[in-house]
Amino acid sequence: MPHANHLYAIAIGSNRPHGRHGRPPAVIAAAIARLDEAFALFDASPIMLNRATGGAGRDFANAAALVETPLDPTALLAQLKAIEHDFGRRTGRRWGPRVLDLDIVAWSGGKFDSRHLTIPHRRLAIRDFVLTPLAFIAPNWRLIGSLTTRHLAARLARPAPAR
Ligand code: ATP
Ligand code: CA
Ligand code: CA
Repeated sequence: MPHANHLYAIAIGSNRPHGRHGRPPAVIAAAIARLDEAFALFDASPIMLNRATGGAGRDFANAAALVETPLDPTALLAQLKAIEHDFGRRTGRRWGPRVLDLDIVAWSGGKFDSRHLTIPHRRLAIRDFVLTPLAFIAPNWRLIGSLTTRHLAARLARPAPAR
């Protein structure tokens, strides 16, 4: 019997150019091609540009992908980190400029929690740059309880009610 496959939603981000691939949108396209080689790629969203918030930041390109693999979350994270490294990511600084960032947003196994990995991703619900691309390819995935991607994205897009 083959291993059971899991479905994963992966958030892809870049805000530094790559020597060969070029600017962030091209880095994202190359990363999607790499995910397709490494795993069974189910679908990928359009690539979106997001203005960096704050003064010194650089603009980001973002996308989301759905992959199917028998790997468990810990093993998948190790492979994603190896791909980031292949793309030239070296610094460990959180939220700093990086050629490629691959985060596990959700998986078909529900919740997962270890010292190095939390699924669903902790900041998922406040990130338009994750939810908007993911809504293109997995609008009805119940990411947090009964809340779907589309629901969470719509909630973020709505201005806070006046009081
Ligand atoms: P953020 O997690 O806020 O998006 P980041 O992606 O910039 O920040 P990194 O420096 O890439 O942060 O990763 C820091 C650590 O986060 C990783 O080494 C990993 O162990 C841990 N981590 C926890 N949950 C996840 C997840 N769902 N996907 C990817 N990494 C995770
Ligand atoms: Ca991230
Ligand atoms: Ca990351």
